[in-house]
Amino acid sequence: MRTLVYSSQTYDRESFLGAQVAADIELHFQPARLTLDTVALAEQYEVVCAFINDDLSAPVLEQLAAGGTKLIALRSAGFNHVDLAVAQRLGLSVVRVPAYSPHAVAEHAVALILSLNRHLHRAYNRTRDGDFSLHGLTGFDLVGKTVGVVGTGQIGATFARIMAGFGCQLLAYDPYPNPVVEALGARYLPLDELLAEAQIISLHCPLNEHTRHLINPDSLARMQYGAMLINTGRGALVNTPALIDALKSGQLGYLGLDVYEEEAQLFFEDRSDLPLQDDVLARLLTFPNVVITAHQAFLTKEALGAIAQTTLDNITGWAAGSPQNLVQ
Ligand code: NAD
Repeated sequence: MRTLVYSSQTYDRESFLGAQVAADIELHFQPARLTLDTVALAEQYEVVCAFINDDLSAPVLEQLAAGGTKLIALRSAGFNHVDLAVAQRLGLSVVRVPAYSPHAVAEHAVALILSLNRHLHRAYNRTRDGDFSLHGLTGFDLVGKTVGVVGTGQIGATFARIMAGFGCQLLAYDPYPNPVVEALGARYLPLDELLAEAQIISLHCPLNEHTRHLINPDSLARMQYGAMLINTGRGALVNTPALIDALKSGQLGYLGLDVYEEEAQLFFEDRSDLPLQDDVLARLLTFPNVVITAHQAFLTKEALGAIAQTTLDNITGWAAGSPQNLVQ
């Protein structure tokens, strides 16, 4: 099966070539993102392998199907960027990697919390500049603090376990409570109550029509003054301009983002030579109490290896007529 791997970076190539590739899978790596401009490259590729910022909207899917593509193999768990109704209409199967390493993402959320709380990003710059002063670097102990986990699936539960290890009190919000998280002592509450009680709030739910802009001016106003918000889920879980107002007033005390609503045009590329055109992101980057990473929470050796192997197994299973990890 001729397989075109869009948005492939060096680390994708290494992890795929390090995995067990079935003899009948012919991998071609394409660094470009899948868009209407690049979809022609996929002509006569039976399988297209795509990542989170690839465009899988109706017009792109239509061209893929017309060019002979039969399978979209997502290298991600999230599938909010695929127009599933159109894929179904066109007879395109969509498979994904439902779990690769919940630890990778959960641990990155914890890394953001510790960076913000102990001002590591500021300390790093100061000491490199020969400034060994400590003013402005006062943190707080995590033990005893209340942490709200929004979405307690695989990643949220892993995150909850780590935070329980710090001695935090756990609150949770999820339409389907997870017994594993309850066993950690978490209390499930309505979202508004969680927002009002937690000092640290971390988002681990999928992006869908119910969760888009879950964090907005109203929900920010419900939070405790000076609360910390962490988003490693999807950018559009948060109304980003509202964050700027909350940071300016001090209502939001700390912000850690690994995802950004408008990231598709920006992330995964070196744009350091170019003027940043996104004024919202540019403003966010001016706050000393904001740490932003460019969708790297998944980026561990273990996760990349698991993504590559599951994707290859998904392609093999589909070709053998016994598809696994289908997105319905
Ligand atoms: P999962 O399916 O195991 O868990 C998601 C949980 O969210 C489920 O328990 C579900 O019941 C819950 N949920 C659904 N609707 C909700 C709502 N309205 N409010 C609160 N909770 C709700 O998924 P997962 O593997 O834990 O991944 C969670 C999300 O993390 C993914 O959807 C993806 O968007 C994101 N993610 C980000 C990265 C990254 O690199 N930053 C990597 C992987 C996944």
